[in-house]
Order: sequence, then C-alpha cells, then structure tokens
Amino acid sequence: MKKVQGYDSFQRMNYLYQISKYIVDKNPALSSYYGNLIVNVAKKNVLKIHPEIKRQICKKCKCMLVHKTSASMKIKNKNKSKIIEWTCHTCGMKKILPTYKDRDNTVWLERPEAVVEIIS
Ligand SMILES: [Zn+2]
Repeated sequence: MKKVQGYDSFQRMNYLYQISKYIVDKNPALSSYYGNLIVNVAKKNVLKIHPEIKRQICKKCKCMLVHKTSASMKIKNKNKSKIIEWTCHTCGMKKILPTYKDRDNTVWLERPEAVVEIIS
C-alpha cells in the first residue's frame, strides 16, 4: 500500500478535529485545546489543514466555530458584495469570509482539478 507523506499526522488531525467539534458545546476551552493541537501538528509536520476545517477554527483561540453554539454567523453587505462574519463566543474574535456571486465559493484545493491522485 502506498503511503502519503504525513499520513499519521493527517489521521491524528482528523481525530482531533472530530473530538474538538464534538466537545465544543460542552466545553469550549477543551475544544480550543484540541484546536491548538491540530494547528501545532500541522505546523510541526509542515502540512496544510484542509480549508473546510481551517474555516471552522477560530483564528485567536482555536475553538471550533459552530453557529449558535460557540459562535454566531452573520451575512453582511460590504462594497456591493456579501461577506460572512463569524463571531467567536469564547474570545470575541471576528472572522470574515468572502462570498462570491459569480464564482463558486471554494478555494482551489477543493476543486476537482486539485486532486492529482487518490490513495486509499
Ligand atoms: Zn475564539
């Protein structure tokens, strides 16, 4: 079986992400702790966090952002385009994500052409 570089770390990050998200409504501080671990594992092994996951982590306290639980989400108008504003309930940090009317709201990594090879 072919192995990807950082395979174990990706598995670990996936596991940490799941607990972090699971625990967030019960204990946001613990969620931040696991969020921090995800970021540290990625940094240490020079790996990229999947954008879908990265969007859900608070920039400041690394808590999982879940609407109406640990954060609130608002859609606002800015310069004729819409933005999504996340406010973290744990630390109060605001995170702004752009939306695109004509383009699909995905980063390059999530598009089909970004997949070079699937290794099972
Ligand atoms: Zn936060």
